[in-house]
Amino acid sequence: MRLIFIGPPGAGKGTQSARLVEFLQIPHLSTGDMLRQAVRDKTDAGRHAESFMERGDLVPDDVVMDLVRERLERPDCGAGALLDGVPRNQRQADLLDEALARSRMQLDVALELRVPDEAVIQRLAGRGRGDDQPGVIKRRLESYWRQTRPLLDYYQERGILHRIDGLGTPDEVFERIKGALQAAPGEVPPHCKVPGS
Ligand code: AMP
Repeated sequence: MRLIFIGPPGAGKGTQSARLVEFLQIPHLSTGDMLRQAVRDKTDAGRHAESFMERGDLVPDDVVMDLVRERLERPDCGAGALLDGVPRNQRQADLLDEALARSRMQLDVALELRVPDEAVIQRLAGRGRGDDQPGVIKRRLESYWRQTRPLLDYYQERGILHRIDGLGTPDEVFERIKGALQAAPGEVPPHCKVPGS
């Protein structure tokens, strides 16, 4: 199964992704993590990405999607993958579709993690990552609203969008995610079925 997570920064995508990949036994592809690692390793992609990330702007599509494509081609993604933080705009969505199609794969599920803006700002302010400063948070939210949120319509029209209420404890939110996946027939491998469902 191939899934993506869409939601504003601070919605809890990282926390829920970690649980979901454990549950589904598939690799976790977080473009934020991949880019932060590339910056630490001072690779060409990392050097290119650094200033965009510091400002809270999106890194150029080709830089990100080259990393994603390369990662998706590794054998451990054969059984599925959870993409976290990508696609962030329509061009990335198109490039992702192309990359998957080339390997005769497709996106099965898009999960939207819905959290009101005020809650997001509060959560990010308490997190303390380098790009969680007030001015940078504002830019990251703006890029979410302007470029990423329109993708929800795109996946809704394809019939693969599941909206998840992201408020509550991590356990509560994860139960909702599992419930949504069970409702998507044939998409959850048998070893992951929730007992009693
Ligand atoms: P995240 O950890 O997903 O919040 O990402 C942190 C930062 O990495 C973002 O503010 C962007 O600068 C960059 N980034 C992560 N994923 C992408 C992506 N798919 N496209 C462009 N920039 C990205």
